[in-house]
Amino acid sequence: AYRMTGVILDISARIQAETALRESEKRLRELMDAQKRFIADAAHELRTPLTAIQGNLDIFLRYPNIPEDEKMDILTEVQREASRLGRLVNDMLQLARGDAGAALREEEVQLDQVMTEMWKDISRVVPFHHLILTEVEPVQVVGDHDRLKQLVLILLENALKYTPEGGTVTGSLKRKGHHVELRIADTGYGISEEDLPRVFERFYRADRSRQRGEDPGGTGLGLPIAKWIVEGHKGKIWLESELGAGTVAVVQLPLEESRFS
Ligand code: ADP
Repeated sequence: AYRMTGVILDISARIQAETALRESEKRLRELMDAQKRFIADAAHELRTPLTAIQGNLDIFLRYPNIPEDEKMDILTEVQREASRLGRLVNDMLQLARGDAGAALREEEVQLDQVMTEMWKDISRVVPFHHLILTEVEPVQVVGDHDRLKQLVLILLENALKYTPEGGTVTGSLKRKGHHVELRIADTGYGISEEDLPRVFERFYRADRSRQRGEDPGGTGLGLPIAKWIVEGHKGKIWLESELGAGTVAVVQLPLEESRFS
């Protein structure tokens, strides 16, 4: 009977090992599919500004007698598309480094300071929105200072991009048990129920017609980068939104004490 039990244990161990192998093969295939999709989407996104640059330069070179003001329009368009290309490449590089397992620094970060400085700096350059901070508690977390600053900037820039002039963007930072909660609320266009579950997908941008005004020129990679930063800090991020009323971006990060206990 002992031998029999040994054989059965052997078989069940083998079955378990095979299941684990199949699981990791499946996971690997999913990762490879995601990478392929990322490359295909990236190529498509890069082609759009590139085509615009080539088209404008062709016109510029083919017709030497274009009036001066039209020449300026063409060059301005080339400049705009080139900086869009630059933004796309930078964002893609950062995500690729994240996929490759780039490490985050572990330093003491005074989050309230990051927020107050950012609000002060951005208020100076954005005159058409009301930027306010309510209830910013002094909070320290362990993390990567530059990446956390980038996170706040991505969320703040989104709030400003998708809020018409005269709107209000409100930030707050509060302790809640073992974590700290950062909220950035706007009174902007909001996001529809269909779009909301997809905004963290790479290159996803909600229906532009609803955003009225001019295309704010996003890359569709801001929120994926934000998510990578938050998850690298063992935190959570989500958006709450109502079309026509506004959006709240919520970030929860574990507090210093809870990371080590
Ligand atoms: P983008 O560079 O286009 O802003 P993001 O990844 O940062 O890309 O955001 C994805 C999409 O989510 C945006 O294109 C926009 O449609 C929507 N979105 C993000 N933040 C907001 C916000 N505060 N208000 C309304 N829509 C938003």
